[in-house]
Amino acid sequence: MKKVAVVGCGAYMDSGYGCPGEWRCLKAAALGEGDFDETSQVVAFVKCECPGRTVVPTLGMFMKLSETKPDVIHLSSCLVEAKPGCPYVNAEELAKIIENKTNIKVVLGTHDYH
Ligand code: SF4
Repeated sequence: MKKVAVVGCGAYMDSGYGCPGEWRCLKAAALGEGDFDETSQVVAFVKCECPGRTVVPTLGMFMKLSETKPDVIHLSSCLVEAKPGCPYVNAEELAKIIENKTNIKVVLGTHDYH
């Protein structure tokens, strides 16, 4: 089973209606649905905070303290697809930054539940 970390958009998660849980990312990972290509264990759920500077250091701290390196990092569907989009960084750009800093593959999206 793959170990995955999920990065969610904190602004969206805090809105209370967009991200009720967040069960959707977790369900998709557990069942290998949506953007997960197999059943996956979520070993970290990192909340991005505007303007997005905390994501890479938080991922680094998670890996150091937990002594766990995920096989893949997913940017959540809300982070990738929410409209209006993030005013600070686009998802492709954030994915490249994370990949360059961690050497871990980043997948855009987590689920397609509505
Ligand atoms: S920087 Fe963008 S992705 Fe991160 S919490 Fe703010 S709006 Fe969401």
